[in-house]
Amino acid sequence: MSDILDYLKEKQDNMLATLQYIVEHESPTLDKLSVDALGVQLVRIFEELTGGRTAVIANETYGDHIRGEWGEGEEQILLLAHFDTVWKKGDWPQPLIAVEQDILSGPGVFDMKGGLVQGIYAIHALHALGKKLKSRIVFLFTSDEELGSPTSRKLIEEEAQQSKYVLVLEPSIARTNAVKTSRKGVGMFRLEVVGNASHAGADHQAGKSAVEELARQITYLHSLTDYSLGTTVNVGVISGGSTINVVAAKAAADIDLRVTSQAEADRVIPLIMGIQPVTEGTQIVVTGGMNRPPMERTAEVGSMYEIARVIALEELNFELAEGATGGASDGNFAAPLAPTIDGLGAVGDGAHAANEHLVISQMPVRSALVAHLIEKLDEMKGDTGHGRRKQERLGAGAAE
Ligand SMILES: [Zn+2]
Repeated sequence: MSDILDYLKEKQDNMLATLQYIVEHESPTLDKLSVDALGVQLVRIFEELTGGRTAVIANETYGDHIRGEWGEGEEQILLLAHFDTVWKKGDWPQPLIAVEQDILSGPGVFDMKGGLVQGIYAIHALHALGKKLKSRIVFLFTSDEELGSPTSRKLIEEEAQQSKYVLVLEPSIARTNAVKTSRKGVGMFRLEVVGNASHAGADHQAGKSAVEELARQITYLHSLTDYSLGTTVNVGVISGGSTINVVAAKAAADIDLRVTSQAEADRVIPLIMGIQPVTEGTQIVVTGGMNRPPMERTAEVGSMYEIARVIALEELNFELAEGATGGASDGNFAAPLAPTIDGLGAVGDGAHAANEHLVISQMPVRSALVAHLIEKLDEMKGDTGHGRRKQERLGAGAAE
């Protein structure tokens, strides 16, 4: 049995108390003051528990990001956690936190304050048990993931570029409790149609309907969905027209694209960007591109999972499954630059939902998994060239 797990099981009440404290500091992405107030606490907690160092990365728009570092060493292993949540103050009914037997409910406990706390305690255990690593651990706490990481993306990519492995502490997959070895990439596009207005009664034939054209393009866009390839195209929002008795001069659609590979992104994006009007006299402008690249299950990711699976089985006595998800995270930004495994955080369910919760007794177990994984990956020979090669390719092929 694992000494790390023994240690963390003893610390379960401390982990729970830390998590409750962090959840009580609500941190909706758009509320900079609140997010910063939690950030100050994270600095203190990280330094106290790990003996590590921190730097605050000031941010004008959203909460300040925090970079924690533990250990010395040439090589770097990166941990990623965001501490913003989708929950605005007042959205979650009082009391904020409820504990019922082994279940803790609260805003952001599953996505992803639970995983964040488990990550800190993983390093705490390595620190307290006197484990010596060859690598330094960099722990990024970012403040704007729920908005697509507009201000943290660059930071994440810079750190991933210098890392031999990246561990993302987002929640495990609900029900299977699996780690995430692939995530779809996300593209976001806007299609705007310009037609020609006319009176719907007096002069109908003079009009060129932007709404009609949009309707045709929606069916085309949806026809690009191919479940066998894991590709989906969803027109999620449409708008158009001015009033009932006018042939519409304008219409627009917001489009979400999901793909499992960069190759598939390269195939589908031109089909969206190159759309031509089919209704005579209308014009189309498409803007947008990939927002997050796919996190692909490369051979290196497969070996990382295998290491984690064996640790779970031999040290922690459970079967660790892997899975794929259509949702994106900061793992998508890291994955093209260094082998990345995601979903190493909380066990529970209800991300972004009223039933958000985590399983308390799994906190030490998953925390021990992260600690053991760091120890094992520390011994591996990292391939830092991996990131640089991929970066060149991304730079050349970026759709944005
Ligand atoms: Zn999250």
